[in-house]
Amino acid sequence: MNDFPDDQLSHAFQKDLLRWFGEVKRDLPWRRDRDPYRVWLSEVMLQQTRVDQAAPYFHRFTEAFPTVADLASAELDEVLLLWEGLGYYSRARNLHRAAQVVMEEHAGYLPGSQKELKALPGIGDYTSAAIASIAFDEPSAAVDGNVIRVMARVFALEGDRKSARLRTEIQKLSDTLIPDDSPGAYNEALMELGARVCTPRNPDCQACPLNQVCTAFRLGAAESYPQAAETRIVPHHDIAIGIVFDDGRLLIQRRSEKAMLGGLWEFPGGKVEGDETPAEACIREVAEETGLEIVIDEALNHVRHAYSHFRITLHPFVCSVAGGVIRPSTTTREWIRLDDADLFAFPRANRKVFEQLKSRTGVNHRGR
Ligand code: SF4
Repeated sequence: MNDFPDDQLSHAFQKDLLRWFGEVKRDLPWRRDRDPYRVWLSEVMLQQTRVDQAAPYFHRFTEAFPTVADLASAELDEVLLLWEGLGYYSRARNLHRAAQVVMEEHAGYLPGSQKELKALPGIGDYTSAAIASIAFDEPSAAVDGNVIRVMARVFALEGDRKSARLRTEIQKLSDTLIPDDSPGAYNEALMELGARVCTPRNPDCQACPLNQVCTAFRLGAAESYPQAAETRIVPHHDIAIGIVFDDGRLLIQRRSEKAMLGGLWEFPGGKVEGDETPAEACIREVAEETGLEIVIDEALNHVRHAYSHFRITLHPFVCSVAGGVIRPSTTTREWIRLDDADLFAFPRANRKVFEQLKSRTGVNHRGR
């Protein structure tokens, strides 16, 4: 582990970074005021998402829910529908729950300290530090992947970029470097430097405001820090789904709020097991989940999708009801018209199935 930087180095680091940020900072919608609610929304949206992708969602969201009170009183379905496409849906569910807690326990005002913010659903070390510093001027250092990369390079820190040890070391270092005045600008500057200059590949060291203090640059070894995490094998699952039509409507069901993609809607179905064909799996899964017996009318093109920890291939089948009745269940189910699909929030892979359904012509299967 490197020694903590001396006062002179700390001062140069802060000064060069803040001066650069003052010159290049983008006019982003959540930077125009430092309204805590808008800062919170932006920080949650920007987790795992680029600025250009998040900006349209931010506009739509703040238009639909201009205040914490509006978000708290919205239906979860409305929130998920506006979030659709951003992924990591637990962020949306937690935002919604946290807004309700802010109304109930904080009279509608987001609390101003990192400690209190961390007590809200979905707000961890990084987000609480970002909100506390940007909206409330608390000197809390926010450490995300961009910050880890910049700090590991500037101070030539050893360790795998995903290791808890490196993160802890960088958090301690960052806690000593964050200035008492303008802590929010400091955090934003470091994140922005990581996103725009000190990128994982081909960092632009010549244009970097920290190149005078950066050890990795001096060693000519910028890309060697931080060390790459071990590559892991990403599991793959084949999932068979039934688009079950009856009397011109199709069956959808809502995922449990505790599950991955919780609260979103989907078609019934599940994993293809053992030697089953996807069609056999579809018939079995629909019967097990719903109680309906189905016949398959048509196989649609399969859809591939990658999540953070696994990949799937969806095998969609258009089906008709041949018997059975829907079994009572805690799962919420709806029979909807194809044209109403846009009123419900679906995972992206299911949207691709709807695109196929809508583009088909001459649809002719039982029940339609
Ligand atoms: Fe990153 Fe290069 Fe700047 Fe060092 S000099 S912080 S490696 S961009």
